[in-house]
Amino acid sequence: MINAPRLVCFDVDSTLLAVESLDFVLTRKLGPAAAEQIEALTSGGMNGTMSFRQSLMARLDLTSLKRSDIADAAIELRRHLTPGMAELLTDLRQRGDHVRAVSGGFEDVLAPALRDLGFGAGESFANRFIWESATVAGIETANPLSDNGGKALILAGLRSETQYAAVWMVGDGVTDLETLTAGAADHFIGFGGIARREAVVDRAPDYAGTLDELRRLLLG
Ligand SMILES: [Mg+2]
Repeated sequence: MINAPRLVCFDVDSTLLAVESLDFVLTRKLGPAAAEQIEALTSGGMNGTMSFRQSLMARLDLTSLKRSDIADAAIELRRHLTPGMAELLTDLRQRGDHVRAVSGGFEDVLAPALRDLGFGAGESFANRFIWESATVAGIETANPLSDNGGKALILAGLRSETQYAAVWMVGDGVTDLETLTAGAADHFIGFGGIARREAVVDRAPDYAGTLDELRRLLLG
């Protein structure tokens, strides 16, 4: 095969976005006083001291989210893209790479920001809320992205559909690093431009502390 494309998959929270999207939603609703508690639950999941699903459920248990909370935060989130990421994604697409977003966040929260970053239909993967009328009543637990190992399953599915020269994953958290340890990604770049997770810094074969370093690792 001549010139098989690369598949380059990006985590979304604290990678494509300069915030954790669910925490962004919750902090807007609960106020800054809750930020520390929310952050502790997020870090537990990202560092691997609790399962990703435990971390998600514990955060959602903090309050009752309405459709208007989600919709307003989703629009506001468009102002929190990681600086330089849009340009990097454009450059990767121009050289022929297939670029995908693979997130433990929620589709309803992320959709406007991911559209701004150029992701079309079928190019992003995320969790889904279960709604009871206008209130979040839970999460679709059948979605592999709702727990550890989910991103590896998504990448394995993508690479079974297309002949790729190589599969890359970029992200800040342990659920991102899992794609490499599970063999679903050939290369992993830890990204610490927004959030530096020591469990990932220690174990990632390649680590980019800044967007410029990430550009060099992906584009040479
Ligand atoms: Mg992340």
